[in-house]
Formats: sequence, C-alpha cells, structure tokens
Amino acid sequence: QAKASGKAVTVTFDRSMTARAAERLEMESELRRAIEQGQLRLHYQPIVSLETEQISEVEALVRWEHPTRGLIPPGKFIPIAEETGLIVPLGKWVLEEACRQGQEWREAHSENLSLLIGVNLSTRQFQQEGLIEEIKEILERSGLPPASLKLEITESLMSARPEDTIAKLEQLRAIGVHLAVDDFGTGYSSMSYLANFPVDTLKIDQSFVQRLGSNSESDAIVQAIMTLAKALNLRVTSEGIETDEQRALLRGMGCDRGQGYLFSRPLTSLALTELLTNQFLTNQSDNIERRAA
Ligand code: C2E
Ligand code: MG
Ligand code: MG
Ligand code: MG
Repeated sequence: QAKASGKAVTVTFDRSMTARAAERLEMESELRRAIEQGQLRLHYQPIVSLETEQISEVEALVRWEHPTRGLIPPGKFIPIAEETGLIVPLGKWVLEEACRQGQEWREAHSENLSLLIGVNLSTRQFQQEGLIEEIKEILERSGLPPASLKLEITESLMSARPEDTIAKLEQLRAIGVHLAVDDFGTGYSSMSYLANFPVDTLKIDQSFVQRLGSNSESDAIVQAIMTLAKALNLRVTSEGIETDEQRALLRGMGCDRGQGYLFSRPLTSLALTELLTNQFLTNQSDNIERRAA
C-alpha cells in the first residue's frame, strides 16, 4: 500500500516538474520576444500628499500585454526575467520608457515640472555592470532632469554587499537622482547600515499598512519606521493604502505621502495624463475662487 502510493506520488511529481520546466522555458522565449516586439507596457500609479491628495510622484509599473493571455502582472514574469538575465534588457526598456513619458508630462504642462517618476530596479539589474553609464545615457536621451527620477531599490541589496551597494548609490546620488528603499520593513537590514545608505525615501511595505488599526504590532512597526526616518532625515511613503482609516492613522503618525487604491490604481499613461490635467484644472478654479473671495 505505502509502496504503491509512494510510486504514484513520484510519477505525479516528475510529470509536474517536467511540465513546469517546459512552461518556464516557453515563458522565457516568449518574454524575450515580448521585449523585442514591444509587448511590454508601463502603468503609472500616483503617489499623493496625504493632506491634499495632490500627485507629487508616479511609480512606473510594468505589465506584459500578451497577444493571447491578456495583461500579465509583473509578479508573473519579473522573477523569470531575473533568473534568466532578461531583466537587463527589460529594465533598460522600462527606464527608457518611463523617462520618455516623464519628460513628455513635464513638457506638456509647466505645473508638472516637479513631478517625480519612480522606477523599480531589481537586485540583479542594480548589480549589472555599466548601470550608472546606462542611466546617464537614458536620462540625456530623454531630456528628463536626473532630479525628476527616483529609483526604487529593495532592502535585500543592503544586506548582500553593503560596500558595493553604497559605492553605487553614491554614484547615483552624484548624478542627482533620488533613491528610495522599496517594501521597507520586510527584509533584513541593519539600522546602522541604513544610516550609511545615501537614500532619501523609505517606502513602508503594504503588509504593515494593511494591518494598521487591527494589529498592534503593525502599528508599532510603522511608528518605529516613522521615528527612524525622522532621525535619519528620510522621507516616507506608505504603500497599499486602501481605507480612510489607514490614511488617517498614517497621517497621525506623521507620514505625509501615500500610494494605494484609496487614491488610484495604476493607470495607463493616457488615464494618468487626464488625471494630471484634472488636478491642474481643479487647482486653477480653486485659485480663481480664492482670488474672487
Ligand atoms: P512594488 O514596487 O512594491 O509596487 C507596488 C505594488 O503594489 C504594485 O503591484 C501596485 O499595483 C500594488 N498596489 C498599489 N496600491 C495597492 C493597494 O492599495 N492595494 C494592493 N493590494 N496593492 C497595491 P504590481 O504592479 O503588480 O507590481 C508588483 C511588483 O513587481 C512591484 O512591487 C515591483 O517589485 C515589481 N515591478 C513592477 N514593475 C517593475 C519594473 O519595471 N521593474 C522591476 N524590476 N520590478 C517591477
Ligand atoms: Mg516599487
Ligand atoms: Mg513596494
Ligand atoms: Mg511590494
């Protein structure tokens, strides 16, 4: 009995392993084609002032518009891109497209001049040789000022090779780009290292934000991050804000910026252009009313 079922399990396991490996291999060649044939899209999610809800930044988030399977979220293909090295051409495309679009927004309306464009960098991409030069070239080609770009790195970079990481971050900072630590609080990073990292923003991971008010540990962690950020003179953005209660709690803790479905989901560049235009028109009519009053 035991032997028979053991055998059956082995067979199933082998089959699913083979199927999975084949699926991955197919995914890899499809992804390579997707990059070459322009099937990647960027969506942009606003980051707003928690007080005024004005958009101060947008984060570029990649999607794959698959010809038969529809829009594929990054969680489904970024890990494969990282494993296969495809993250290098993929990441380059994302940077180019985000910088191009960011500069287009800046040129369209002078009120967008202070808009920051956030781009995610994966660990492998960050460690790639020639990254700094590539970023410089992309910025020059697009015309986007370095100070309008914010690169989001993850905490895992801080523990892997801290000296190398610090040196690279210093170079990026010297160019003038902003640097943020994404998903902060989920990885291992020593507080003493954080003080040595030339970053200017911490993004509090959405897992803490979503448990706010219902889990006292999350409240304590978020409060501790706020205190730490203040001591190190870092800005904080809270990710994944979905409710008014979360927004109110975060404001109470001194967080001034947020991102989440409460404000907006990630949008196509066209939809975000409309949102920026509406914000401009609303501000303009507010000003007129104020002047009239
Ligand atoms: P991330 O950088 O932490 O991005 C935030 C993710 O949270 C996005 O998922 C966004 O859609 C989602 N999100 C925002 N607000 C809410 C909310 O209120 N509730 C919930 N439940 N989720 C919210 P998305 O677009 O699926 O991206 C997932 C991850 O994929 C990103 O996490 C980032 O790590 C990675 N990624 C996305 N684009 C790129 C890229 O161009 N390059 C690299 N290397 N990684 C990327
Ligand atoms: Mg991010
Ligand atoms: Mg994040
Ligand atoms: Mg995340």
